[in-house]
Amino acid sequence: MSGCGSEWPCEACATPIVYSGRGAPRKFCSQCMPPGARAAEWRALDCERVRLSNAARRRGPFPVVCQDCGEVFEAVRRDSTRDPACQAERRRARDRARKARDRSLGRRG
Ligand SMILES: [Zn+2]
Ligand SMILES: [Zn+2]
Repeated sequence: MSGCGSEWPCEACATPIVYSGRGAPRKFCSQCMPPGARAAEWRALDCERVRLSNAARRRGPFPVVCQDCGEVFEAVRRDSTRDPACQAERRRARDRARKARDRSLGRRG
């Protein structure tokens, strides 16, 4: 995932805008958009979006059937598919597998 280094023309004067990777992408170049002019607007928009997506995700707890053990548990997040115990167990298993793989491949880097 590398969204840095993207570039697009300013909507007003077509000067190429390079996205610095910080904050919301801008539609206008620094000449057309005075510093801070839209920042508050963007921030407010962003806040709202984050709040909404958080609210949509966090409507729990609600009952979910664990994918691993089939038991019903109370999930707080909408994308939860395993109960905390199975999730921890899976994480441990993945960790072990990764360590074993690392060892068999030898150290790199
Ligand atoms: Zn411009
Ligand atoms: Zn489970």
